[in-house]
Amino acid sequence: MLNVPSQSFPAPSSQQRVVAGGRSKVPLKQGRSLMDWIRLTKSGKDLTGLKGRLIEVTEEELKKHDKKDDCWICIRGFVYNVSPYMEYHPGGEDELMRAAGSDGTDLFDQVHRWVNYESMLKECLVGRMAVKPAAPKGMLPKSQATDTLAREGPSSPSYDWFQTDSLVTIVIYTKQKDITLDSVIVDHQDDSFRAETIIKDYSYLINIELSHAVQEDFSVRIVENVGKIEIVLQKKENTSWKCLGHPLENHNSLVPKKDAGLFYRQCQLISKEDVTHDTRLFCFMLPPSTHLQVPIGQHVYLKLTVTDTEIVKPYTPVSDSLLSEFKEPALPNNKYIYFLIKIYPAGLFTPELDHLQIGDFVFVSNPEGNFKTSQFQELEDLFLLAAGTGFTPMVKLLNYALTNIPSLRKVKLMFFNKTEDDIIWRSQLEELTFKDKRFDVEFVLSAPISEWNGKQGHVSPALLSEFLKRSSDKSKVLICICGPTPFTEQGIKFLHELNFSKDEIHSFTA
Ligand code: FAD
Ligand code: NAP
Repeated sequence: MLNVPSQSFPAPSSQQRVVAGGRSKVPLKQGRSLMDWIRLTKSGKDLTGLKGRLIEVTEEELKKHDKKDDCWICIRGFVYNVSPYMEYHPGGEDELMRAAGSDGTDLFDQVHRWVNYESMLKECLVGRMAVKPAAPKGMLPKSQATDTLAREGPSSPSYDWFQTDSLVTIVIYTKQKDITLDSVIVDHQDDSFRAETIIKDYSYLINIELSHAVQEDFSVRIVENVGKIEIVLQKKENTSWKCLGHPLENHNSLVPKKDAGLFYRQCQLISKEDVTHDTRLFCFMLPPSTHLQVPIGQHVYLKLTVTDTEIVKPYTPVSDSLLSEFKEPALPNNKYIYFLIKIYPAGLFTPELDHLQIGDFVFVSNPEGNFKTSQFQELEDLFLLAAGTGFTPMVKLLNYALTNIPSLRKVKLMFFNKTEDDIIWRSQLEELTFKDKRFDVEFVLSAPISEWNGKQGHVSPALLSEFLKRSSDKSKVLICICGPTPFTEQGIKFLHELNFSKDEIHSFTA
């Protein structure tokens, strides 16, 4: 619901005025950028009209505040007066008004659950709901949550723990066969231990304050055929533990993944390398006390604090190169995470990111996304359509498909850019065509110099029908598409017109 653009660039008709996921950003008035909003919140102005008091809000009271100049919205039990924010909201006033005088939690979650509204709207906080509105789904009491899930979700996982003199092993029984090392994300800091396991579209959480201290390093093992996860911690002292520890929030709960909050950890900038005139390869190091492998085709959220306000944007991790041997997810202790990020001089987040020094920190969230490598099963032809940084999800896809899919006959990338200078990893892509005969790449430029003798223009039925030639009449095909939202939407429309089915198309969005 609350997005974070700044003004003036690019031109009003540009695709950058549209957020991924298909929502249009409305043009904001002069002086209504996010930075202007941040300035207003710091000005000391009373934005709630309550002179700094926090009140308890009944449902009846909430309902009364449903007008543009008097608009209260409840998100997760907290009520905000969003009237002062209306003109600063990139999604426009109408989008905010959909939740006026009511509980906007679901609406908020549908659109931008990752945006840190607590930080953005803290000066607009009116108070808490007196009578709690329907509990957010992720907060169901255990018994109620398990009852619902018993009907809809995977069978309930469980956990146990064992110890030797020097080790503590936490075992999670997922009761699912397709568990891999990227299904589990572990973080422990000081005494708190957190393990989130993704089981189909559900999240199972172990969240404990450990009873004794452990070393930073730990290991994670998977016994795949029985879906067992073993996390082996090393005791700091060789004493016998009477209990594992005390439960923290949502411990031992199974909730739909979309209802599980995003967890962040601090990662350190290790290197930054120019890739094109405006795109850089960033390498961050995960803390030693974190196990996190972002599944292929998924993205994470990066969080930075800009003028005391937390700003969050999604980015898709890549491999360090297209030509290195494919390592994930087989390597358990992969500690580095790479991103190809384009810096927009008038953007809010990317200039801040670009100013980070080696050794500085950024918060990195747990992964999200709906691509599944099972979509590659028996695949014969893989076509990738990428525009600009929409190339990023294609990097790991390419590496994975060429290494792991024996049925694969052909992989073709059509890469749309403005000019030759904008092409990310052009020489690596060309080298890959020599290295692997199944791979081919075609560059299409929308604003080439006159000497360019390759393809020109925008995504079109003519370009696609010539490009998307199956290796045989009935070959199993997958087409992946990613780029500015209007590019992706148009591309999908053309693909349907060319008779490709829904199952044969995967689009990457937020
Ligand atoms: P913004 O502040 O969003 O602005 C971008 C430009 O548009 C600026 O110049 C700004 O002035 C202008 N603008 C935007 N909205 C308005 C408006 N309403 N009025 C006036 N001007 C406006 N990017 C990558 O580089 N690499 C990735 O791997 C990557 N992965 C992504 C994965 C997903 C799932 C999604 C959805 C996006 C991904 N992106 C990626 C894009 C990324 O999330 C950011 O959108 C991008 O980095 C721009 O952020 P910014 O805050 O710097 O710019
Ligand atoms: P860009 O350089 O502005 O554009 C790349 C190419 O796409 C250019 O040739 C451009 O043509 C063309 N294009 C733009 N809009 C188009 C449209 N409406 N129809 C047809 N072609 C169009 O791209 P960018 O700045 O790198 O932006 C990349 C986008 O990808 C961002 O919006 C980012 O959010 C998104 N992205 C999404 C994900 C994801 O969802 N997983 C991952 C990474 C990136 P023109 O010269 O005419 O502009």
